[in-house]
This record gives sequence, C-alpha cells and structure tokens, in this order.
Amino acid sequence: MSYKYLLVDTFDDGTIMRITLNRPDARNAQNRGLLVELGDAFEEAEKDDAVRVVILAAAGKIFSSGHDMGSRQQIADVRPGPDQLESARTKGGSRAATEKRVLQEWHYFFQNTLRWRNLRKITVAQVHGQVLSAGLMLAWCCDLIVAAEDTIFCDVVGARIGMCGMEYFAHPWEFGPRKTKELMLTGDAIDAEEAWRLGMVSKIYPADDLAEKTLAFARRIANVPTMAALMIKESVNQTVDCMGFFNALQASFTLHQLNHAHWAHVHAGTEHDGLPYALPSDGGVDWRDAPPIKLARKDD
Ligand code: ZN
Repeated sequence: MSYKYLLVDTFDDGTIMRITLNRPDARNAQNRGLLVELGDAFEEAEKDDAVRVVILAAAGKIFSSGHDMGSRQQIADVRPGPDQLESARTKGGSRAATEKRVLQEWHYFFQNTLRWRNLRKITVAQVHGQVLSAGLMLAWCCDLIVAAEDTIFCDVVGARIGMCGMEYFAHPWEFGPRKTKELMLTGDAIDAEEAWRLGMVSKIYPADDLAEKTLAFARRIANVPTMAALMIKESVNQTVDCMGFFNALQASFTLHQLNHAHWAHVHAGTEHDGLPYALPSDGGVDWRDAPPIKLARKDD
C-alpha cells in the first residue's frame, strides 16, 4: 500500500514494521487523511502474520503537535469540495451539529485510538521533540514508549482552548490523577526523565541513536513467542479494563463532548457559529502567539 502521510518500512524479513508519521512541515499534525491512513497501516500490520512488533515513529523535528486544527489540508479533507474524503461524508459526517461531532470524534479520535491500543501486535511508540495533546494519544495507545532525550509531553488544550483534555482521556492512567490535574490546569509539560519515573516511558535514548536503539529494543521483543507476547499484552490490558480503564474512557469522552457543546452554544449566532472550543475572547489563547511550553517544576 502507498501512503501520502506515512512511510512504512519493514526489517528482519518483515518481523518488524515501522510506520512513520510523515508530515514534518506541519509538525505531524493529525489531519483526517493522516488518521485514516494510520488506521489502514495498523491494519496492514495486523493482517500480516510475519509482523511481530510495530514501531510508530515520526519524521521531522517533533513527534506530533496534536490534531490538525485547520490547515488547508485538513479543511480540504473534511469540508465539502473536490478533495473531501469519503470519511467526512459517512460515519456521522453527513449529519449536523452535536450528532455529527460526537460520531466523527468517536470514530476518528476515540474508537480508532482504542482499536490501535487493542491491536493484535506489540506496538512501540518512538517519540522525540514534542508530544502534544492528541500526539499523546498516539503514544499512549502503543504498548511501550521509547523517547529521545529531548522529548517533552504536554496536553495544552485545557490552558489554551478551554477543553478538558482529548477524546481518549488516558491522562490519569499515564500521569496519575493529581499530576493530570496539575498538568491540565497549567498547560505545563513533563520531560522524558519524568515520564520514565512515572513508568510511561521505558527507554530514553540520545536523539541521534533513537531509530537504531528502538529497532534493537523491538528486536528483543520480537524474540518472544507471539502467543506469549499477545497474552502478556492482553493480561495487562484486561487488568486495567477491570480497574475501570475502558469505562472511564467512555465517561470522559462524554464529558469531552459536553465541553465541546458548551463552546458551540457560546458561539451560536456569532461569526464563529458552532466553533466547539474556546477562543482568546473566551479566555483561551491564540495558539499562534501562545507562550512557550514550560516544564512542570516543583519549585517554579
Ligand atoms: Zn474533540
């Protein structure tokens, strides 16, 4: 299969597949076309019985800046016009208002992420630079995360656009409950060391060695018999599901939609009619001149 927004490489006779987000000029912002392709690529990996480990990496300076909030490409992907993707006309795309938003976000931000979390392969996110907001979703849905030394992790949507997090609200499970409140209410970031202390990141490598060392890490995992590897993954995933992970995610998705509905209502009848997140005039921040992201420090 050939992709517009991804690169796909295989190693060791197809035992390891590496999917690379390849929109470096857009800081790997996730437009609809990229997300649809990513779903196809994960399924391609899952279909292939030779593949044991899937690496999810990214080209350019950062892993991902999150959802594409309105580049020309994203607008072409979803708005009516010659380049509109089929996915923007189906799965709720032809409906209106909250119904459309709930269904489209459920399919393309929530259920797809959950589907990748449940992929019948071991997945390793290889992150570097910045992992922002929905970029976190792509890292978190993988079984393991390895990071370059320079990596920071941050969800800016609370501090910048008046939202309670992303559609796949794994934050308390990854950061811990209290840390999630701190990070979401301040918009501050954690670095790779802190993410490693939290158990979120398994390995930290120098940026120049990241690809090679991740491959070596993946090779170790690929040696585990596939049946054992999948049962290890599933034992852990089913344990956290029993602890409430799945139900909490569903509940938080509903709250996320309530938050969107609030802003859409606030903007009704204005020039931003239906806009489902906060503007600077609502207490949000214009992302183009947003202050630089700070690390959360205990003494600052
Ligand atoms: Zn949303």
